[in-house]
This record gives sequence, C-alpha cells and structure tokens, in this order.
Amino acid sequence: MSFPDAEFLTSAVQPDQYPRHRRKEIALAGRSNVGKSSFVNAIANRKGLAYVSKQPGRTQTINFIALDEALCLVDLPGYGYAKVPERIRASWGAIIEGYLSGREQLVAVCLLVDGRHGPTRDDRTMVEWLAHAPYECFAIATKWDKVARGVRIRRLKEIAEALGMEVVPFSAHSGEGKDEVIKRLRRFV
Ligand code: GDP
Repeated sequence: MSFPDAEFLTSAVQPDQYPRHRRKEIALAGRSNVGKSSFVNAIANRKGLAYVSKQPGRTQTINFIALDEALCLVDLPGYGYAKVPERIRASWGAIIEGYLSGREQLVAVCLLVDGRHGPTRDDRTMVEWLAHAPYECFAIATKWDKVARGVRIRRLKEIAEALGMEVVPFSAHSGEGKDEVIKRLRRFV
C-alpha cells in the first residue's frame, strides 16, 4: 500500500502562499526530531520527499505534499526544540496557528509523538489547543522499532491516555504501522 504519485507541492509560511487545490488536507504536528520527515517519506514511499533533518528545528515552513488527487499531507514546522531562540519559536507558533485556525480543507490533525518517551510538555500544550478544534485528531507513536516489545502495550496505553486520542504505533525504519496509517488517511477522502 502506498501513494505512487506523491509529489511535493510547495512550502508556505502564510495563507496567501498555500496551494489552491481540492484535496483534503491532513496536518502533521510534532516536536522537531520526532520523525516527521521520515514519516512523510515512508508514507509517500519516496526518500527525500521531505528533508530528513540532521539539524533539528531548522524547518520553519509549512510543506504541502500531495499524496494523490484526493489527499494532501501538510507538514507543520516542528516545535519545542530547546536551542531555538524565543523570537523564532514565537513565529513558529504563529505559522502553525495561522494554518490550523483557518484552512477550509483541513480534515484531520495527526500528532506525532516519540514512542520511546511518550508526550512532552509541548505535545500536551498542542493537545490542549487541538481540543477546541473542529477536525478529527489522532496520534502516531514514532520510532516504534526502538521500543522494547515487553513495554509496547503499556506504552501505547500511556500515550493514548495522556493525549486522549487513538494512537497508531509506527516505524519509518521497519515499516511497521505503515499500512494502518495509510488506511486511516484514506478514510478522510
Ligand atoms: P523531524 O525533525 O521530525 O522531521 O525528524 P526526522 O524524520 O528528520 O528524524 C529525526 C531523527 O530520528 C533522524 O535521525 C531519523 O533517522 C530518526 N528516525 C526517524 N524515524 C525513525 C524510526 O522509525 N526509527 C528510528 N530508529 N529512528 C527514526
């Protein structure tokens, strides 16, 4: 299961730069380094579609990736990287909020949390903000290949309870969870 015609559409920081199309959009939120770029590349089955960063916190744009004629992933800037100056952090908040509060074709937000550690304080802040939102939210627990088998069931339950959302375990490295995620994304069409 994959999206053979996935393509990068554009980067944007403000609404007049967002692409004009009829696709439903699913936004990806998460702290920087959580594995968001790797997630996009795995789902689209294309290496390099989203830049896999070696320097966390550098991507400050919203990236639109069309999966097919009906669906588009919207990669929001990663939040919560400690070494980023306050001024830049504030502008990221504005970029994310600008998109989430005003985009008509946005149907769901997918929150990526690190499966090895569970939600951070920033993740919880994001969830509080999303609680008032008119679209569906679900979570992905990333880097699942690094989570010991013996703790997986408990970890999933902890993350689901902390976020108040359904969680799909996912590994960009092993491919675990990929089909389940794609099934979920297709449900929004
Ligand atoms: P982003 O900043 O959220 O876009 O995160 P990246 O996709 O750039 O990944 C950050 C780091 O986590 C990189 O070193 C990746 O190789 C690593 N990573 C991403 N996904 C996985 C995964 O599924 N398993 C493991 N073990 N590492 C991962």
